[in-house]
Amino acid sequence: MTTEDGPLASFTAELDSAVILTDFDGTLSEIVVDPGAAVPLDGAVAAVEGLSRVAHTVAVVSGRPVDFLAPFFADTVELVGLYGLEWRRDGRTGRIPEAGRWRAVVADTVARARAELPGDVHIESKGLAVTLHYRTVPERRGTIEAWAATWASRTGLHVGAARCSVELNPPVLVDKGRVVSDAVSSPDVRHACYIGDDHADIAAFAALEASTENGLDTRRIAVHGTETPDELVAAADLVVDGPTGVVDLLVSLLGDQPAAVS
Ligand SMILES: [Mg+2]
Repeated sequence: MTTEDGPLASFTAELDSAVILTDFDGTLSEIVVDPGAAVPLDGAVAAVEGLSRVAHTVAVVSGRPVDFLAPFFADTVELVGLYGLEWRRDGRTGRIPEAGRWRAVVADTVARARAELPGDVHIESKGLAVTLHYRTVPERRGTIEAWAATWASRTGLHVGAARCSVELNPPVLVDKGRVVSDAVSSPDVRHACYIGDDHADIAAFAALEASTENGLDTRRIAVHGTETPDELVAAADLVVDGPTGVVDLLVSLLGDQPAAVS
């Protein structure tokens, strides 16, 4: 595929009016057993940063905290963490104020999960959210889901599903769909794409689809892997094969623009 006739040729031709949004885990990074060990694929950061210097907006939109993502990317790349509860723009972090009052509840949740769940369940504390991972112990899924449902009903936290994990989040109305809607709301945006591999990315695809009513040129790009939800693939305009396929796509998006040196 060449840049001139590729599925994103219209983006490359007008990068200064293009919004490029991408998930992190399973999209820019391979899925790994220890979530703390995930790193972007070779070439991913250079391509993302290169695009961020010429495109209207480039943002990494993730369920991770921004503090996890920030060390990987230059400040030209916007970061949206915890599905929109927090963000980092121009090197400054902001958070939705109403989420902050859930920090103590989340800390209590982490402590209770460590005390009550089997020791082989990986408990990822994210500050304003917590993720319970069962990738290495799939037989624990039922136990984790039941514990999360009970704990959520007692605290008011919301339960969300992700790849081989259950998440407990503050009941604040944000999701990746809201993030996408906000990112494409500027009148000088003409093209927008979103790249993702997980359940939470379905809302982003839906928001992108809705934005076509405003005449936006959009692409919903699913990253195919063994755990990618069928619903996400079914809703995609384009499917790429794993994070390697994402890097190839980002490089092709750049066209003749140089990737950042990192
Ligand atoms: Mg992902």
